[in-house]
Amino acid sequence: MTSFLKNNENPLKYVNIIPAGKSHIHIRNKKVCLDCENKPCTYYCPARVFFWEVNEIKILFERCIECGACPWGCPRENIDWVYPPGGYGVKYEV
Ligand code: SF4
Ligand code: SF4
Repeated sequence: MTSFLKNNENPLKYVNIIPAGKSHIHIRNKKVCLDCENKPCTYYCPARVFFWEVNEIKILFERCIECGACPWGCPRENIDWVYPPGGYGVKYEV
């Protein structure tokens, strides 16, 4: 994967996330992804949640920063996304 970050710095280095026990992000139909040109979910997600491996999209839901972009960015409307259950997910502190 091409990185836009210097020295492959982890973009979540300063983000506090409490992962739930199961994913809040799901692919509706994995077959649809096979012929999806450029697989844009693998680069528009700011937290690099999605990646392509062994002919399917894999989801690192633990990295999600809840920006809400993934259902809108998928050209095939193939992503189901909801907020993580209460008490889990990203913690934005001031
Ligand atoms: S953008 Fe949508 S259809 Fe394309 S690979 Fe990602 S989830 Fe699948
Ligand atoms: S909500 Fe945002 S950060 Fe979370 S998976 Fe979707 S695009 Fe990535």
